[in-house]
Amino acid sequence: MHDLSDSFDLKELHWLLAIVQSMDVGIVVLDLEYRVCVWNGFMQNHSGRTVKEASQQSFFDLFPEVSQTWFRHKMDSVVTLGMPAFTVWEQRPYLVRFRNYQPITGQDDLMYQNTTWLPLVSTNSQVEHVCLIIYDVTIAATSRKQLESLNTQLEQLAHKDRLTGLNNRGYWEELLRQEFARYTRYNSMAALLIFDIDHFKKINDTYGHQAGDKVIQALARLILTSARVTDIAGRYGGEEFVILMPGTDCMGARLFAERFRKRVESLIVPHEDKDIRFTISIGIADLSQPLKSHEQLIHNADQALYLSKNGGRNRVTLFSEVSPNP
Ligand code: GH3
Ligand code: MG
Ligand code: MG
Repeated sequence: MHDLSDSFDLKELHWLLAIVQSMDVGIVVLDLEYRVCVWNGFMQNHSGRTVKEASQQSFFDLFPEVSQTWFRHKMDSVVTLGMPAFTVWEQRPYLVRFRNYQPITGQDDLMYQNTTWLPLVSTNSQVEHVCLIIYDVTIAATSRKQLESLNTQLEQLAHKDRLTGLNNRGYWEELLRQEFARYTRYNSMAALLIFDIDHFKKINDTYGHQAGDKVIQALARLILTSARVTDIAGRYGGEEFVILMPGTDCMGARLFAERFRKRVESLIVPHEDKDIRFTISIGIADLSQPLKSHEQLIHNADQALYLSKNGGRNRVTLFSEVSPNP
């Protein structure tokens, strides 16, 4: 091995140049005025500018997309500290805007880049140049992004009911459990509505299961347009739904429930040449009396629902109206 700084013959220099020229990373050397001194094949291929065209040009003229303030600041710190620096695609997707030619379907066609900033010491021991090494990390970046978006989709799928897009029972119960813990800690109010479509079996029997599904979907849409954004709605069972209303007591919930019951009553679901109409029964419980668990809140609302059914359906009952000695 030779000591590079001492006995460096011309042939070896030539080799090194050829290697730098053909490496599959971008190599640019800039002087302190940001002028290009070295420009390798990668830079040439991706920018479309030859060495001749790029030489002695300002980096900012070649790449107007680069933020000058940021770039100068970065370069200053590399020169002053005499230490390498790095930029990664997670913080800044790319240093210079190059097209991505790798066949990655359905993704944006820009090249993601990591960059190393290397201070180059001159013979006078001063840093008078900085070498930028630009890595094409498009494949790693896009597969990471695809994975992240798949994970988000999967998470949402696991939380949502397929037919209605509402929270499914498992996830809704988890949300209720979390909220319930918060209410007990801060002593705040919340009400729970549970409702069930009246004589739904008859709808299925008369119009078919598909019509039944349509009814369920129409009801879910009505929930979404009627409830507040802070309300937490879910499909609790086949044709049973729940709405948790934070910051609302049972009186406020009753006002909502009555209005909602009437909206359902006047809703028309067209199916083939028929108009399907239906009603719901509602039960409401709140936190005005101490509860042991979130399950007890559901249980109380369910008992109130039972009373609505027994009392003739298409009505609203509060848990406080449930007689302790039936
Ligand atoms: P009630 O007034 O007492 O509630 O009478 P009901 O006929 O509605 O009785 P129940 O609430 O027990 O009815 C549940 C029926 O809902 C039974 C089941 O066939 C039907 N069902 C449950 N899930 C679905 C679904 O996803 N689609 C359809 N079409 N029907 C469903
Ligand atoms: Mg039911
Ligand atoms: Mg029912």
